[in-house]
Amino acid sequence: MSDRNYLVLLGAPGAGKGTQAQLLQEKLGLPQVSTGEIFRYNLKNQTELGKLAQSYYDKGELVPDEVTIRMVEARLEQEDAAQGAILDGFPRNLVQAQALDEMTAGHGGVDVVPMIQLDDDVVTMRITGRRLCRSCDRVYHIMFNPPRGEKCDSCGGELYQRNDDKPETVQNRLYVYYKQTSPLIGYYFAKGLLVEVDGAGSIQEIQEQLLGRLAARNIEAAGRSVRV
Ligand code: ADP
Ligand code: ADP
Ligand code: ZN
Repeated sequence: MSDRNYLVLLGAPGAGKGTQAQLLQEKLGLPQVSTGEIFRYNLKNQTELGKLAQSYYDKGELVPDEVTIRMVEARLEQEDAAQGAILDGFPRNLVQAQALDEMTAGHGGVDVVPMIQLDDDVVTMRITGRRLCRSCDRVYHIMFNPPRGEKCDSCGGELYQRNDDKPETVQNRLYVYYKQTSPLIGYYFAKGLLVEVDGAGSIQEIQEQLLGRLAARNIEAAGRSVRV
């Protein structure tokens, strides 16, 4: 039975998953669950989880599965995820994908996996110009999606560049993506859940494309549908 909707956004670091997930959550009435964001929160507050994740995060390596899976499981049990969730940054390897299947099995499993495609050179430009709001995590880009002033448009918070968005770490993150995460494309394709989205347009164009794909999915996959 599919009483909950689980979307998994796939794509290289910088492909636009977080940006699209932030917009999608209002339209779908489902929360964005970003593992990167949860790690950043824990790093900022120097919790046990943060201390554990720090060295992996700083190098652009994956935080160990056991920790990450437990963290997602707890997040999906929270009340705001009672209808499902938009997963952004999880799963990132096959072990995590299988764990997600188990976690969601009682609710019909994962419903749809939009894959945002973008060339590596564009991805690199996107990542190196990325800035985040320290208070509300809103994502900006110094050239492509700048704030109106110096501070966050939404909350007036300070903007900063992630440590792992500096060029030294970006190469390794792309390597980790191709080696560990890209096999998930085949994994979800084989399950008939993958939908490809061209990540090269404007934020608005991609959002429309994405909503169109989800709507089409709704018609094709009756009973396991995403409400749009
Ligand atoms: P991006 O948005 O650029 O893809 P994220 O914010 O999703 O980056 O992730 C930042 C870092 O957080 C990763 O490089 C990794 O260290 C850690 N992380 C995020 N999600 C996961 C995950 N599913 N498994 C392990 N580590 C993760
Ligand atoms: P991911 O979550 O996949 O790592 P983000 O959503 O954080 O990617 O986007 C990476 C960077 O690219 C951010 O600085 C964001 O503002 C910018 N960005 C996202 N989508 C687009 C787009 N369609 N066109 C131009 N820049 C974009
Ligand atoms: Zn803000």
